[in-house]
Amino acid sequence: MVSDFYFMIADLRSPVSLFNQIAAKLSSKLKKLGIETIEDLLFYYPFRYDDFSQILDIKDLTAGTIATIRGKVQLIENQRSWRRRVLITECIVNDITGSVKVIWFGQPYVAKILKSGDEVFISGRVDYNKGLFFSSPSYEKVTQTKEEFGTTHTARLVPVYNLTKGITSKQLRYLIKMVLSNVSAIREYLPGQIIRGLKFPGLAEAIKQIHFPDSKTKLDQAQKRLKFDEFFLIQLKNQLARQKLNNSKATSVPFASEVIKKWVTKLPFKLTDAQRRSAWEILQDLSRDRPMNRLLEGDVGSGKTVVAAMAMLDVVQNNLQVALMAPTEILAKQHYHTITKLFSDFDFKIGLMTRTQGEIFGDGRQDKKDLIKKIKSGKIKVVIGTHALIQEKVYFYNLALAIVDEQHRFGVQQRKALQQKSGHPEVLPHFLSMTATPIPRSLALTIYGDLDISIIDQMPAGRKKVITKIVQSAQRDKAYRFIRQEIVRGRQVFVICPLIDPSDKLGFKSVREEAVRLDKKIFPEFKIAVLHGRLKSEEKEMIMRDFSAGKINILVSTSVVEVGVDVPNATVMMIEGADRFGLAQLHQFRGRVGRGQDQSYCFLFSQTENDFSKERLAALVSSSDGFKLAEQDLRFRGPGETLGTVQSGMPDLHLANLFDFAIIKQAREWSERIIAWDPDLQKNPNLKQKIGDLEDIHLE
Ligand code: ADP
Ligand code: MG
Repeated sequence: MVSDFYFMIADLRSPVSLFNQIAAKLSSKLKKLGIETIEDLLFYYPFRYDDFSQILDIKDLTAGTIATIRGKVQLIENQRSWRRRVLITECIVNDITGSVKVIWFGQPYVAKILKSGDEVFISGRVDYNKGLFFSSPSYEKVTQTKEEFGTTHTARLVPVYNLTKGITSKQLRYLIKMVLSNVSAIREYLPGQIIRGLKFPGLAEAIKQIHFPDSKTKLDQAQKRLKFDEFFLIQLKNQLARQKLNNSKATSVPFASEVIKKWVTKLPFKLTDAQRRSAWEILQDLSRDRPMNRLLEGDVGSGKTVVAAMAMLDVVQNNLQVALMAPTEILAKQHYHTITKLFSDFDFKIGLMTRTQGEIFGDGRQDKKDLIKKIKSGKIKVVIGTHALIQEKVYFYNLALAIVDEQHRFGVQQRKALQQKSGHPEVLPHFLSMTATPIPRSLALTIYGDLDISIIDQMPAGRKKVITKIVQSAQRDKAYRFIRQEIVRGRQVFVICPLIDPSDKLGFKSVREEAVRLDKKIFPEFKIAVLHGRLKSEEKEMIMRDFSAGKINILVSTSVVEVGVDVPNATVMMIEGADRFGLAQLHQFRGRVGRGQDQSYCFLFSQTENDFSKERLAALVSSSDGFKLAEQDLRFRGPGETLGTVQSGMPDLHLANLFDFAIIKQAREWSERIIAWDPDLQKNPNLKQKIGDLEDIHLE
């Protein structure tokens, strides 16, 4: 046994490795679980509990149940199994009502820990084979349990944690319990009136109960409180951010109504009502002298770009600058082409800047230094690019509006950086983010409480629904015949694979392999190209250009085409290993087709036997509503699965889920009340610190 020299913990932010030798030894594994400090460890909640709380008499045991007994070890010894491979530890335990066999497979060390005469708890599954026996149960000596928390692994509600290789629930339980009994520093951050008002347990008690609950009722109370905390802290942070923004200045951009209205009449299509409404909300915001902070939500293909373009035009007409940022080079370039086309009647300058390239429309390629100069002098009015725009030494002359497309929303840091670069550090640029992951308004309000939201909840007229089918292996040839017909008729095809390179382990299709197979065996007569994130940006650009121009029939790609890519002539989206992707992501892929006049198709290839995955794919077949699918996607996620903060822009909730509507509402009301009473949290220093410690889960 490792001795337990530990420090009394005074500061929760001290590294967990300092706590004791076991913690030090496990620290790299703990880090994988996101646990670096004592605080991280305490807030690492179990995702479920084994209910071993009922202690039975041995005479009452029955086969096929989970049970706990308390008794004395009569005999314990290791044996080889008849196959001579696995070591079996056999043990007899008795209480006053009888005796029972306990067997552990492949854990010979148990015979070193438990000795005859020891009093033990045994918790686990009871099976039958010529008599009842416990099969590899949890065990714990009764003598080790004289602590205020009672037992650790047996005879209680036992916490079960998400693990990573090299660390066991037992180790985590042990560590957390040691920390809990040596920590004096859990400081309450919730204001007293909330605790009293909602009859919550205090923070220290809640944390203790969530790991080692005394009862289901106590657990329930702890979970309620800690779920509330998660939403409360997010919302408080959001509302504080909003308050701050409301007190800041921005450049007022008056509505250039004549020019914009005329431009709209010249568009090749009629705007939908939802597009009009959203544009109107944005233009209104722009005309004010405090910063807009607005999220434009709209399903794939709902036409967000043209709405953003209207705002851009407004800004430029007022002789101010606007920046549009996209998460990938492919998308930045595509926006550049779209926007330059939309504004072809105007003669203001539009620039493109990515990590590798600078260009001004009409003037061709630019040396980056020159481009940066022209942005700074205000010569270029519309700057489109990737995050290179804020990373590099770009300064604006008078940036009035920053637009971010698809997912990558702004962090506080980036916003600050932009403010420094906007040309007028004392005024903030207006902000508009556009998201490809549409979520219902009620949810959005929770997550992005500091944002105003415009929703395009209507598709342009005349769009045909994409026909979606799950294709079994037996029908693969039929699907290929169908694809051939489409290509012969001049249409184009996407094939999405989960991997770039072949991998033996996963057995999923890779872009490289699949492209070769299609080229050699299936479609030798067609032009096939590959696209993935590891290609050089010139290569990517060339391929996208050729595909847009119709020179490529089939584009085999990774998920890089997931967002935004707009090639209206593509009518077939074929997805290999479809179960590998999330629902929202699959919907994004599907959104790459069905953009033109022709009927489009989405084929989902999957060999999954997993009911859960099947259900997910079935949802995609039956619904084409991105809002509904996004909601379902959130619901489908099982306990313990994180939401993939970066990917989805969702906050990382540990305990709560986005459908805890009652708690969400409660948290919102209380955060409003607290801010009204203590606007800068002067009276609640612990709360203020806690909020400050929160990562930028979400952006503004
Ligand atoms: P997303 O919202 O996914 O970014 P885009 O802005 O790329 O969608 O628009 C998708 C396609 O729909 C584009 O080809 C665009 O020109 C077209 N479009 C946009 N608005 C309309 C409309 N009101 N009527 C018809 N087509 C439209
Ligand atoms: Mg888009």
